[in-house]
Amino acid sequence: MAEVAIAYHEDFLKHVPGPGHPESPDRLRAIVDKLSEEGLIDQLAKITPEAASERMLVAIHKPDYIRWVQERCRQGERYLDAGDTMVCPDSYRVALLAAGAVTEAAEWVMEREMRRAFCAVRPPGHHAEANRAMGFCLFNNVAICARHVQRRHNVDRVLIVDWDVHHGNGTQNAFYGDPSVFYFSIHQYPYYPGTGRESDTGIGKGEGYTMNVPLPAGSGDEEYLHAFRAKLLPAAESFEPEVVLISAGFDSHRDDPLAGMCLTEDGFAKLTELVKGIADRHSGGKVISVLEGGYALAAMPASIVRHLRVLME
Ligand SMILES: [Zn+2]
Repeated sequence: MAEVAIAYHEDFLKHVPGPGHPESPDRLRAIVDKLSEEGLIDQLAKITPEAASERMLVAIHKPDYIRWVQERCRQGERYLDAGDTMVCPDSYRVALLAAGAVTEAAEWVMEREMRRAFCAVRPPGHHAEANRAMGFCLFNNVAICARHVQRRHNVDRVLIVDWDVHHGNGTQNAFYGDPSVFYFSIHQYPYYPGTGRESDTGIGKGEGYTMNVPLPAGSGDEEYLHAFRAKLLPAAESFEPEVVLISAGFDSHRDDPLAGMCLTEDGFAKLTELVKGIADRHSGGKVISVLEGGYALAAMPASIVRHLRVLME
């Protein structure tokens, strides 16, 4: 059995993109309600995060961009970019707290073997670039987490598995030339944000350390499991990660209103088993799972329950 923690803070509800926006505080309310209903919340260790320091953020983001986000929020601006990343005055502080949650989860997981964590955070992160907000994302939580474990815990090799329905352009770009972070993304393609072709495999020393599996709309459990077995597993076996991070987006579920994939709760459980197997073989069981998208308010929490139950085994 693994010891599993949840990183959560009530202030995550204070990032309010606006009426009708799919990335709403209701997402986390639905997760907390479901975990309570299932009796899971009492079985999880609790991590109460604090805001990340600027030093943690600059590992991935430009200082000018961090200041700009802070200013836009302070001034009460509603948008951070061309339109889809909306903010409120609290958003900067909440985004720092989300980044703080993943680094705090990293501390907890790295301390001992067979520890894993799920970070129920928002805003999400994997579209955020070094100098740009995008796709509901302000700061790239999973990328910040990867750098944090490398620097604080002398870890050489980090694997990031991204099963959010969208390609994590920000995460890919953060590590595109870096052989120490293997980025695997499986996503609907062609689709937002338009990146993540199979031929994009890294550059320079990072060549071969990015793996994209673009799948057509309508792909489900069978196609995902096949890709994980045929592509992710062999790559992970030769990479031998010291810790495994998951960009856990649940918008690849068949009920999700934003996308067209067909994963089920069962599918998410099986994908989690495969990723957990990699961690058990190479990483002392260490898995840090970070919430990305997922907008179906029943299917997303139900999938997270299955995800957590497998992580706890
Ligand atoms: Zn997504």
